[in-house]
Amino acid sequence: MNGWRDLHCGEPRPADAGRAVTLAGWAARRRDHGGLIFIDLRDETGVTQLVVNPENAPDAAAIAREVRNEFVLQASGTIVQRTPETVNPRMPTGEIELRVETLRVLSTCPPLPFQLDEENVDEALRQKYRWIDLRRDHMQRNIRIRAQLVRIIREEMERDGFVDIETPILWKPTPEGARDFVVPARLQKGKFYALPQSPQIAKQLLVISGFERYYQIARCFRDEDPRADRLQELTQLDVEMAFPDREFIFALMERIVERIWRECIGVQLSPPFERLSYDETILRYGIDRPDLRFGMEIQEATEATRGSEFSVFANAPCVRYIAVPKEFSRAELQALEAQATSWGAKGLAYIVFRADREVSSPIAKFLDQDLLERWRQAGHTLLFVADEERMVAKVLGLARLQLGRDLDLIDDSRWEFRWIVDMAAAEFDEQTGTWHAAHHPFTRPTDETVDFLKTDPSRARAIAYDLVGNGIELAGGSFRIHEPELQQQVFANLGIGPEEQREKFGFLLDALAMGAPPHGGIASGIDRMLMALLAEERIRDTQAFPKNQVGYDYMTGAPSDLPPEQLDELGIQLKPQAGTSR
Ligand code: ASP
Repeated sequence: MNGWRDLHCGEPRPADAGRAVTLAGWAARRRDHGGLIFIDLRDETGVTQLVVNPENAPDAAAIAREVRNEFVLQASGTIVQRTPETVNPRMPTGEIELRVETLRVLSTCPPLPFQLDEENVDEALRQKYRWIDLRRDHMQRNIRIRAQLVRIIREEMERDGFVDIETPILWKPTPEGARDFVVPARLQKGKFYALPQSPQIAKQLLVISGFERYYQIARCFRDEDPRADRLQELTQLDVEMAFPDREFIFALMERIVERIWRECIGVQLSPPFERLSYDETILRYGIDRPDLRFGMEIQEATEATRGSEFSVFANAPCVRYIAVPKEFSRAELQALEAQATSWGAKGLAYIVFRADREVSSPIAKFLDQDLLERWRQAGHTLLFVADEERMVAKVLGLARLQLGRDLDLIDDSRWEFRWIVDMAAAEFDEQTGTWHAAHHPFTRPTDETVDFLKTDPSRARAIAYDLVGNGIELAGGSFRIHEPELQQQVFANLGIGPEEQREKFGFLLDALAMGAPPHGGIASGIDRMLMALLAEERIRDTQAFPKNQVGYDYMTGAPSDLPPEQLDELGIQLKPQAGTSR
């Protein structure tokens, strides 16, 4: 095949018996068996067993005895058929072995920080020795499927006439809801580039420039606070089109997702995926990326409890509950309430309908008998939250998910994809107490609700959509504002004043004024999609070289200090630091 080897380690079969071949690869395992030495030689295609007999090949045997795991070897010899009792049916090459005549060590390896088949290895250690970690089957699978997925995406995009265009990495801030990573500009001291949180503005400009169908497998940088399914450096399929058609965009994404699931993991999905409005989604599941692999939907109780003697219910703007298929104990209920208050609820009311028809609940005596009968579900606990609608949805949504997981209600064999449509245009930020764009400020509000952005942002709706799979947001997009006046109005309604508009987005406003066609698009996070596809718990394991949750790279030590001369060149003086967290 080349100077190093004639065959790959995964290739030899009984038909090759008698052939003289050279193989090369890594020593996966070595065993000494009463004179004979066995080595499993691995390359990216598989494993062949080497057998070295000191009687026939004393030099090779002397070398083989010194071989340790992960040495890189080149072995020449003859393929021989194994005797029936030594055949290994679990290996594709299990009917043969290589009888070694000469053995060369191409590279050695010290004792490993962890074994390739070891489980539950500390994540920091895995990241520090990523080149070892990536040799593990699990990581080989993840990274190879990632490449396969990107290939499928490219094929489908090209087939539909989308043009792959790169956009700048050193750029202006693009608001996607995170902080910007910034890069100091040496040649313009005191100025900074921002890394793109997404190519959002660039792709709009490309469509305005006459590239009617754009796509890119784009790197995005978001200085986010640590969250389990968030990355600071992510990759997304980024798409934009002129004269957009929502049905076309949905069908395109469905075709891509269908092919990925079928070709990468052999699962047949059946698009078109159902659509749920944002309002209905919040009502039934409490969050905009619902996991539909289990029920326990949120139930409305505001009207039913309006006149109740339980004043918390009677006076609350919104009362809803979930019916959990379990009779909780007092202690469990206390723990649930503590959890709910940590999410922001004022409290958690409950009714336990025991299987023996007994009802345990401090609030039952205040409630109407008919209502209790209507709600009765033997062996269930009803958990109620009474508050502003936003808080009720949030707390019951989180409780539903957590209990779904804890009580093992989620059917892992199911794949539930939904389009969430008619999205909210604005989102309330509990930390700052202000409203900001739910998607980004270039998203087109619906004509009927655009004025609510000023008066009651909670009621404004956008021509925006998300694709959700098993509770993971797999894609999100929108139609854009293509009229400069409307864009200015929406900026203003979102609290971005004229000066800030000019400074940050002047170039976009100018472009919108110079023949901008109606346009819209979508983006799909590749790391997230892999997480869903592979049922991977850690999003970081979908990338070859991830950083940890606070952006530290255990392997390279990045981010690292800069020598004073370099800081000087950049015109930067550091403040004394309180210390960093890793
Ligand atoms: N730029 C958006 C994002 O990165 C996607 C889009 O609106 O196309 O989430």
